[in-house]
Amino acid sequence: MTGPQPRVRFAPSPTGYFHVGSARTSLFNWLFARQQGGTFILRIEDTDAERSRPEWVSGILSAMAWLGMEPDEGPFFQSARADRHREAIDALWNGGFLYACDCTREAVIERTRNNAVPGYDGFCRDRGLERGPGRALRFRVPDEGTTVVHDLVRGDVEFPNASMEDFVCAKSNGQPLFVFANVVDDRDSAITHVIRGEDLLPSTPKGILLWHALDSVADGGIRALPRFAHLPMLVNERRQKLSKRRDPVALELYRDAGYLAVAMRNYLALLGWSPPGDQEKVDVEVLISTFRLEDVHHAPAFFDVQKLRHLNGEYIRELSLDAFVEASLPWVAPDQGAPSIAAPQAAIAPRETTSSGPTPPPGAAAPTAWRPPTDPPWPRERFDPAAFRRIAPAVQERVTTLGEVPAMIDFLFLVDPIIDPVSWEKVVADPNARSVLSAAAERYAACEWVAAVLHDETRALGDQLGLKLNKAQAPIRVAITGRGVGPPLFESLEVLGRDVTLQRIRQALDRLSSSSGTL
Ligand code: GLU
Repeated sequence: MTGPQPRVRFAPSPTGYFHVGSARTSLFNWLFARQQGGTFILRIEDTDAERSRPEWVSGILSAMAWLGMEPDEGPFFQSARADRHREAIDALWNGGFLYACDCTREAVIERTRNNAVPGYDGFCRDRGLERGPGRALRFRVPDEGTTVVHDLVRGDVEFPNASMEDFVCAKSNGQPLFVFANVVDDRDSAITHVIRGEDLLPSTPKGILLWHALDSVADGGIRALPRFAHLPMLVNERRQKLSKRRDPVALELYRDAGYLAVAMRNYLALLGWSPPGDQEKVDVEVLISTFRLEDVHHAPAFFDVQKLRHLNGEYIRELSLDAFVEASLPWVAPDQGAPSIAAPQAAIAPRETTSSGPTPPPGAAAPTAWRPPTDPPWPRERFDPAAFRRIAPAVQERVTTLGEVPAMIDFLFLVDPIIDPVSWEKVVADPNARSVLSAAAERYAACEWVAAVLHDETRALGDQLGLKLNKAQAPIRVAITGRGVGPPLFESLEVLGRDVTLQRIRQALDRLSSSSGTL
């Protein structure tokens, strides 16, 4: 490596659920830092007091901890840096880069309605207004020239300066605007690479102009301009930009549904980048060693939930039995299994380069322990870890998310199974159901209680009635588990035990005998 050790940052605004696109941005920063032996910094851009909320900050921290993307520095809070931002505003003002503007939004709209170039028209540029309350501070964008963003993903992107308005750096109430605070903080943190979503590309030339202006007034010293990498946007199956309202974009949804962090992280890495070779399921070490910003695609990346599900199923099946049982605990025994997600082990104390830099406000949003949004349907005390463990290998083969585990095993722990009406209708309509259940009750009362014997007995009763095994099994499965699908029947019966099995078969027979046979 030549040059300084890379310093990258993930700089989310805590104004909503943690978006999968933000998670992808965070991951690409993290992968790059890990690969290059660099530093990954988390900066919470919470200067918009009206839209930022502590619970969104907690969401970011716990999601990052879940995905194993611990920052090396931070979290730093932009809101704690107001003094520093004011100081930088003063430096730019004194250097003549800013001018005061007292135009109201309405006045600007009225004046510029028919202008060819949209945005502010420079009305106050030469009015020589003093700074003061009620006056915004605008950056004097050069009339001539072009600002070029040298982007590692998109190549050189040119922005004629004449097409840029004199943008606001500090609002009339003195509050710095996003692009300004963002640049000051990047400079103070000595950021070398800005890796972020392409929605921010249009604001990048403004940031570059500001960067050079801050250099020329030596605010915080001279800083090398970072390299930029703007990541492609995420789209849904209709190629529409993912929308908060329409698409499942909150990372929390996936954790709550029982996606494994390792699968989610692997999948996020594929959004705009592909590992070498044709393998998409790759270990994090391979992601780290092969990731290249230069190989990130321009084209929008399809966020394909089916592909994610598939990958998750693969990761689930690959777990050891112990790991599967443990990973399922939050869903099946939430009191034992909710992992407490500790605060990221961040070096809160800033390094030398940021020693005058951001510090988190005291007591800032600690991530909360996470647990799935719904509890299992059985009374807690009826959960039997040993029974779960016995059935777990069969369940592991059949689920694609951990959230599907409770419905596979609830028949073991409920007093009465939840009868699925559609499955029961099939039993009612099955002319052999009654004979099958009666024969099963007889045979199961006496046979040895192991899956292989139960299998043979059921096959024999099928033969007796002229039915294939799967036909014979169907009403028994519904009687026992309440559903037409689930883990293999004979293993299920073995774990459930003879007494409960016989009792449920009798209940199903009673139900069938009741006048309508309906539930
Ligand atoms: N806070 C900005 C956002 O969440 C991102 C800033 C950046 O990465 O530069 O959109």
